[in-house]
Amino acid sequence: MSYTELKQHIQRIADVNYAAATLAWDQETYMPQEAAEFKAGQLSTLSGISHELFTSSHTQRLIQQAKENKALSQEEQKNTLLIEEDFARQKKYSTEFVENMSKAISASFNAWQQARKESDFTIFAPYLEKLIELKKQECDILGYEAHPYNALLNLHEKKATVADLDELFADVRKELVPFVKKIQEAPQVNNHFFHQHFDKDAQWKFGIELLQQMGFDFNKGRQDVSSHPFTTSFSPNDVRVTTRINENDFAEMIWSCIHEGGHALYEQGLPAKQYGTPLGEAISLGIHESQSRLWENNVGRSLPYWKRHITLAKKYFPEQLKNTSALDFYKGANQVASSLIRTNADELTYHFHVMIRYEIEKQIFEGKLKVNELPDYWNTKYKEYLSIEVPNQAQGILQDVHWSHGSFGYFPTYSLGSFYAAQFFAQAQKENPSLLQEIEEGNTASLLKWLREKIHQHGKYYTAQELCIKITGEKLNFAHFMAYARKKFGTIYDLK
Ligand SMILES: [Zn+2]
Repeated sequence: MSYTELKQHIQRIADVNYAAATLAWDQETYMPQEAAEFKAGQLSTLSGISHELFTSSHTQRLIQQAKENKALSQEEQKNTLLIEEDFARQKKYSTEFVENMSKAISASFNAWQQARKESDFTIFAPYLEKLIELKKQECDILGYEAHPYNALLNLHEKKATVADLDELFADVRKELVPFVKKIQEAPQVNNHFFHQHFDKDAQWKFGIELLQQMGFDFNKGRQDVSSHPFTTSFSPNDVRVTTRINENDFAEMIWSCIHEGGHALYEQGLPAKQYGTPLGEAISLGIHESQSRLWENNVGRSLPYWKRHITLAKKYFPEQLKNTSALDFYKGANQVASSLIRTNADELTYHFHVMIRYEIEKQIFEGKLKVNELPDYWNTKYKEYLSIEVPNQAQGILQDVHWSHGSFGYFPTYSLGSFYAAQFFAQAQKENPSLLQEIEEGNTASLLKWLREKIHQHGKYYTAQELCIKITGEKLNFAHFMAYARKKFGTIYDLK
């Protein structure tokens, strides 16, 4: 009985959170301009209610009673434990701290928008400084071992540590950096065909077909347009993706659509009976990203996939693609080139963008790097890792929204996601040697079934590392990503 009561209580709080998520989705999609202020008030009221409900003595009592119940199943015990962990973490924050942080974030986000518009970091700097001060306090509030940045990493990726990430990025530096250099010295692939006029409506329909093909269930979700593509979920039966369409760059819509589709399949695959509880939620940002990247890159940028889908692309764009073969399309989709902007980067150089941000964040929280030193440091690193001169601050240090939101420790999860994706995909191929053949036939159902069984249905039952070992027999191993990269790009660029 006690467990049922706890679960119902947690699910009521989830109702409040998902109602807030619906408002947040509306903010990014259909909300009229003048609605912003009241909408922000509604959102903050709901998050206040949710925080109050969750950190109440009532929650504490229900957790205690559930823990004393010896008749719980293993799943119920695990769920109770995970709820208790969340509770203990939330209780560490005083209301005063939460309010200060929320105010600092709003101010800092506004300043960042202004600073980016004017390409002037000094507008953002004092707000960033204040925010970092608060984040340092947060590290102390949460507590940590070995490194303060571990506390922040843990907010996004439980059990992630600086020690593990240092090792991972050392591998990136040792293996990926020279490999990319070799690619850049080879003759380049052509992707000019992406940059013609591609009608908006036709792109939209094409994107919907791609989502349907992956197994996105439109009875349990929908797609809309937003300026930054994202996925959000209000339950496994209502998962929203957004996309962005550029009529002069066909590539943008395709892979953002497949990427968000990958996130959405994870959300639609979470167990509905665990709605709102930890066992009904995604493990971590890194695992979430592994799902989006697996579909986007391992599947959606593969030759078998385009051998199948080039016909569909030509159905919508016969003129633009009349001289483009599946192989051309595939090669164009995998062009490797250093670029300024992280979100436009290819599958390989992407990780240099992340590595730079990781090094910066780590040093900020070690007290080694001061806010006013950031723009120069940034530019030096872009020169070092990407051989790129940063022309201005808007396209340099100010390009990402994350820091203005107080999201430190978030960037590394993007790389973790790609590396997990490579490892999972290698395992899926090992267990099903006809996987690529199936993809070429337009059949990704067995891959989705595999992901559902191995990952989606478990919610948060396992940590990312436990799950990885359970599925592949070892913890995250960068060698899988490198093997994938060497095989794929070695062939595309004809490297010896
Ligand atoms: Zn993503």
